Amino acid sequence: MADERSRYLAQQVELGGSEVILEASAREMPAQPRSARQQDEPAPPPSAMSRSPSASGSKRPTFSEPKKPPSSEPKTPASSELKWKKGAPPIPGPGIYVEPPVPTLLGVDGLSGLDTLEAVAEQIRTSHCCGLCPGRTNAVPGEGNPSAQLMFIGEGPGATEDALGRPFVGQAGKLLDEIIQAIGLRREDVYITNIVKCRPPQNRKPLPDEIAACMPYLHRQIALIRPKVIVALGGTAGEALLDARKSLTELRGKVHSYGGIPIVATYHPAALLRNPNWKKPTWDDVRIARQLLDR
Ligand code: URA
Repeated sequence: MADERSRYLAQQVELGGSEVILEASAREMPAQPRSARQQDEPAPPPSAMSRSPSASGSKRPTFSEPKKPPSSEPKTPASSELKWKKGAPPIPGPGIYVEPPVPTLLGVDGLSGLDTLEAVAEQIRTSHCCGLCPGRTNAVPGEGNPSAQLMFIGEGPGATEDALGRPFVGQAGKLLDEIIQAIGLRREDVYITNIVKCRPPQNRKPLPDEIAACMPYLHRQIALIRPKVIVALGGTAGEALLDARKSLTELRGKVHSYGGIPIVATYHPAALLRNPNWKKPTWDDVRIARQLLDR
């Protein structure tokens, strides 16, 4: 355990461990709202967003680099794949180190014997572990590439996710898809899940006992996927993963470690729908995560 931590710190020092320069400082940023998902529904103010037409004709905010004058050069896949690299901030220094729970020899949590993500998902779908479960339409275990190098972890399912049994498929999910594409990946390349797997009523923030009851599933999912990098979407995800009572502002700008897996904490996409000023710092954070994938 001590060796793992020393290796992690040595690696960070090797990398230069410099602080990321944020466009907006922590002082300038408004506090993170209580539950990021509560922001999933309201339409953003029309003036402040970059927009693109959707298939239905309605408009939604897009996540993209700041606009540049149009170029006459044809876009090659290679150039668009590497767009994220230009001006990407340096990888920041180390933050919190947390040791994942060691599966008990007796498998007391009942999960260490589950050898596939589908087995974990089936367990989630067929059992009740906390007070959120009876109110669900569908449990939302998570989805994506079982060998994903990059894992995104949100707070908990919203109304659309509860109806469909899939994570991040509402408005916030569309923005997450754009974020993933902006760093040259596809949704099917990554794995997406949440801290709690059942929708809290009125999208309220999950309670500590609900988080505690659901965390073993997430620990097992991470153990099976063994991603190279984890992105925590929002303060609830960051706090739960790192077992730390810290705000998102405190968690950003560092590379944390989950037993050697780097964790980058950033704004929840639903919070970006409400406050587009957070898009630039989020873009910086995900580019840090993208660089960590390549190292
Ligand atoms: N917000 C989340 O935190 N998770 C989802 O799956 C959808 C919205």
